[in-house]
Amino acid sequence: MSGKLYVVATPIGNLADISYRALDTLKSVDVIAAEDTRHVKLLLNHHGISRPLLSLHQHNEDHMSETLLRRLQDGESIALVSDAGTPLISDPGLPLVRLAKQADITVSPIPGPCALIAALSASGLALSRFSFEGFLPRTASARKDFFTAKLADSSTWAFYESSHRILDALHDMAEIYPEDHDVVIARELTKLHETIVKGRLADVLHRVTNDANMRKGEFVVIVAGCEQPKDTALTDEQQRILKILLRECSTKTAAALAADITGQRRKLLYQAALDMQGDQAAVQE
Ligand code: SAM
Repeated sequence: MSGKLYVVATPIGNLADISYRALDTLKSVDVIAAEDTRHVKLLLNHHGISRPLLSLHQHNEDHMSETLLRRLQDGESIALVSDAGTPLISDPGLPLVRLAKQADITVSPIPGPCALIAALSASGLALSRFSFEGFLPRTASARKDFFTAKLADSSTWAFYESSHRILDALHDMAEIYPEDHDVVIARELTKLHETIVKGRLADVLHRVTNDANMRKGEFVVIVAGCEQPKDTALTDEQQRILKILLRECSTKTAAALAADITGQRRKLLYQAALDMQGDQAAVQE
């Protein structure tokens, strides 16, 4: 019988943010694979847990994942944890999870803290759709190219940032995004100095520039989606089809048939049909 791989979320600051299931799992597995064993020891000691630890980080995970796979195949159960939050979210673990799944080993998530989700939940921005961009490129020019591409994104998006780059990132963003664009900075979530600032990009940048405390700690930045210009123009072909249909049918029917034929939005075609009829009436007068 193979063992099971548990992907266990751990606190992002406040050590009390850990589920009963996570604690039970950490207590019961054969080994805990941790990004930094010293770091996870603090958490385990806090909760009176003592289990064998193994280190699995970005520099050894390709090789170490093979070793862990063999242990899983030998029937051991393993908990994968990162330094903070949910493993694999901008954290190590993907090679191990992939290998385990390829080998038909059960991979079970033990959900819990994640800085991204915590920040989004308190952001006040629209969340019916959102995307996560991890850490942004490190050079200013690559970042500006990235921000330029994101102007085409109509949904909320988020990225992780460190204290070293938060100001540079916001500066670069202010060169590309409108100054009144809505952004949220979620800093030091669940910790003593938790701060969540929502406002116009220019105001948030001003605050981070002028308040040194606002450049300390760990950050999630959330950016509102950009409203996209509506495609109101019909193609020549769509106009031609609509005109032909208008000769034979009512405005409503012509718009409906043209929508079926062209795939264009019915409302847009109906408005265009009204405009065409208006133009025609003006010519006849
Ligand atoms: N796996 C983690 C998670 O689920 O959130 C993220 C790990 S990633 C290597 C670390 C980054 O997450 C930090 O640089 C910061 O951007 C963000 N982060 C982690 N903890 C945070 C916190 N308490 N408050 C704000 N951002 C945090």
